[in-house]
Amino acid sequence: MLTTEQPVQMTDTPPASIPVSVVYGDGIGPEIMAATLSILEAAGAPVAPHEVRMGEALYREGFTSGFAPDAWDSLRRTGVLLKAPITTPQGGGYKSLNVTLRKTLGLYANVRPCRAYAPYVPTHHPEMNLVIIRENEEDLYAGIEHRQTREVMQCLKLITRPGCEKIVRYAFEYARANHRSKVTALSKDNIMKMCDGLFHTVFDEISDEYPEIKAEHQIIDIGTARVAARPEQYDVIVTLNLYGDILSDVAAEVAGSVGLAGSANIGESFAMFEAIHGSAPDLAGQDAANPGGLISAAALMLEHLGQHAVAARIQNALLCALEDGLHTRDITGPHTKEVLGTHAFADAVIERLGRTPQHLPAVKADVKARAMPVRKPSTPAHIDKQLVGTDVFFEWTDSARDPEVLAATLQEAQLRDIPLKMITNRGVKVWPGGLPETFKSDHWRCRFQSDTPVTHGDLLALLIRVHDKGLDFIKTEHLYTFDGVPGYSLGQGQ
Ligand code: NAD
Repeated sequence: MLTTEQPVQMTDTPPASIPVSVVYGDGIGPEIMAATLSILEAAGAPVAPHEVRMGEALYREGFTSGFAPDAWDSLRRTGVLLKAPITTPQGGGYKSLNVTLRKTLGLYANVRPCRAYAPYVPTHHPEMNLVIIRENEEDLYAGIEHRQTREVMQCLKLITRPGCEKIVRYAFEYARANHRSKVTALSKDNIMKMCDGLFHTVFDEISDEYPEIKAEHQIIDIGTARVAARPEQYDVIVTLNLYGDILSDVAAEVAGSVGLAGSANIGESFAMFEAIHGSAPDLAGQDAANPGGLISAAALMLEHLGQHAVAARIQNALLCALEDGLHTRDITGPHTKEVLGTHAFADAVIERLGRTPQHLPAVKADVKARAMPVRKPSTPAHIDKQLVGTDVFFEWTDSARDPEVLAATLQEAQLRDIPLKMITNRGVKVWPGGLPETFKSDHWRCRFQSDTPVTHGDLLALLIRVHDKGLDFIKTEHLYTFDGVPGYSLGQGQ
């Protein structure tokens, strides 16, 4: 991983100027970035922007990552990136710049505040004011995919204990630093008992360390439905990568202010801030885009840098402009008095620097702690791990896909102490005792399991015997117990 050469000092005392990397982006990006930087300058934000080239032009120049070669040097120097949206070129061969940034810089927490600005921006949920904290590095986004058989694709979901600990602790630290009173974890641990179950377990463990903050867990499907219907019931939400990806768009849409929302991607040495919307090529060059999302992102950046007073000044000026009915085209409604272009909107915010909103809740500059977790990795206890068998996966289509035929062949190949115990197809048990109605793909999971520990040599011997039967084994997953507890799901999916 990259390291900062000159770590940025997090302090409430304004340094002369803090270097920050800035990407102007594509589409509306340059317009909203220019508007945002003009506000930062007028507000006296002590930052020195250093432009970094990333995006469409770089892709076109042949850099498949979308980065200029010197981009990483700038990021190493500053540790902080304010980024306008990038256009991802259509077609294959281009890597997602955002995914590369998140993974390379270790940006494990994606923080997205979603609030309503009622009645000034139309919304069905005037009381909504929640923050979604999404795990950003793990889950199905590890990108480990395989075509296993002619009919079956696989994408691996990886959840780690350290990853869960980091994101859950971040959520509670964020709640504490930002005077929020409740953290809700969302997962699907009723189905994914091991992966999502680990996340839930870690959430329960860590929540005990924050007795002043209410902690609750909900299943992601009902949680998402409730965020859409009654978002005012939520305060801070913490969830896994894929769920957070979907939920944060639902929440932003429900808040009615996609164009006003910013997000932070936080890591241990780096942080990136951006608007949640894309590069809106349909509006590019028209001076019509709402710069509010990037302005909000810049305020999050200033908070991250410990510059709470100037962050609050800027956010309150933005709220005043909304209250005064000065709106860009995308947020017009009954309270709009004048529709402004990008630059005029930025000027309206600048004119209101130093003012406090009259009706919308003002942003206070009293957050003294940075919302960063105190690093406290759990100490790995000694865990007794025993190998007790293997699941062997086959591509097999012979004999009208009759599992009895496959089982008979495998029983001829099995070792005496590691017998065939079960065959499933797409997680449904088809042997012993399957039902003829069950659909069967060409992908078979066959469990060989011993009552006593076995060796890797035993499993290799088993695989050679299986191979000698002419069967195509496509992968194995070994069966381990951890302190006697099975480290594998016990049977068919539910
Ligand atoms: P989009 O967010 O750019 O646009 C969706 C709709 O919202 C459009 O009608 C657009 O005009 C409007 N809109 C977006 N931002 C606005 C603003 N600030 N003010 C007023 N209206 C605004 O999403 P899309 O059209 O799906 O994507 C366009 C491009 O942006 C794609 O290339 C996509 O890959 C990219 N993108 C980049 C990022 C990023 O860099 N973080 C995020 C999302 C999409």
